[in-house]
Amino acid sequence: MKIICVVSAPFKFMKIAPLMEAFKARTIVRPLLLHTGQHYNDNMSGVFFRELGLPGPNFFLGASGTGVVKRPSLGRPCRRAHSENNYSTMETLTTPASANPLEMRNIVRVEILNESVDLLGFDTALDCACELALDRQRVSYVVAVNPEKVMTARRSKIIHDFICRADLAIPDGIGIVAAVRILLGKKIERVAGADLMQMICEESGKRGIKIFLYGAKEDVNAGAVEVLRRRYPDIQIVGRQNGYLPESESEDLVARVNASDADVLFLALGSPRQEKWMNQYGDKLRVGMCMGVGGTLDTIVGKVKRAPMAWRRAKLEWLYRLIRQPSRFWRQRRIFYFAARVLLEKARRPKISK
Ligand code: UDP
Repeated sequence: MKIICVVSAPFKFMKIAPLMEAFKARTIVRPLLLHTGQHYNDNMSGVFFRELGLPGPNFFLGASGTGVVKRPSLGRPCRRAHSENNYSTMETLTTPASANPLEMRNIVRVEILNESVDLLGFDTALDCACELALDRQRVSYVVAVNPEKVMTARRSKIIHDFICRADLAIPDGIGIVAAVRILLGKKIERVAGADLMQMICEESGKRGIKIFLYGAKEDVNAGAVEVLRRRYPDIQIVGRQNGYLPESESEDLVARVNASDADVLFLALGSPRQEKWMNQYGDKLRVGMCMGVGGTLDTIVGKVKRAPMAWRRAKLEWLYRLIRQPSRFWRQRRIFYFAARVLLEKARRPKISK
């Protein structure tokens, strides 16, 4: 089901606000938001979107001098329902400028503690990520949503906005899978970012996806390239850079990534560093898709062990990581806060009679 809300002025938007809140509370639909007006800018409906914790509009409809419409924070163009004229029809809305694989597959986006999560299985996530990578008309973002990131987003507007605007928000942590079950009564599969990254690497040769790896220590970064080439002989790795580049050289790195003609940029800088980097430099990139992969390169080279399959099956990968790296306890304490907030939210929600 698609629901389109037409936003033309603050007054009208305020009228639909309770409806949007109701959708958010039930989180059963993925609303598409249309902004109309002369220009999209932060001082217009952006304020109202933000107050309601909604992402920026999916579509812009109206006259815009340059034809480029910026979304707040990420500064990326949002898709326009119509480019030249300041009028449109519902028909135009159903045929957006570039086909979004998520919308085409009617993937439902829900909110867990105010952060977006897409309800999709591993195969669909892989297909969507590959399609986004090969669509070089604009940069798309894949974000792996886990309890730690959700808790960080509650304090960091940059991370919150980044998750909101991500094209694909995969349920990376088992805590997210459990929260979706507890709050929405839906059973979903976990889509681990580390697995998705490696599957994209496996698909690289078959689908012609060119990859650039940025992040981790020099030996880890170079080692990961070697391991991936051994594991997937057809993989196309067109560039790499360790993650300890001075900030002043980031612009040069962007130029190198663009010159490499990469379709995908994997950032292994850890969170929230990688999200902040994408936020700052994303609109200068000419890749199809960017994805933060945290410490995945360390696990690829075996510097950090991923939990054995039995632990993963028992949904205890987080506990294994905590035991192996007790220094992470301070960071991982947020998993417990997340669990407490989910249970609180569950207790607060009114029971809805069927
Ligand atoms: N890292 C980096 N540049 C930095 C700081 C960290 O490339 O300035 C790398 C670090 O070497 C490690 C990764 O970022 O490979 C962080 O891994 P972690 O497991 O902490 O990330 P998470 O998956 O928890 O976000």
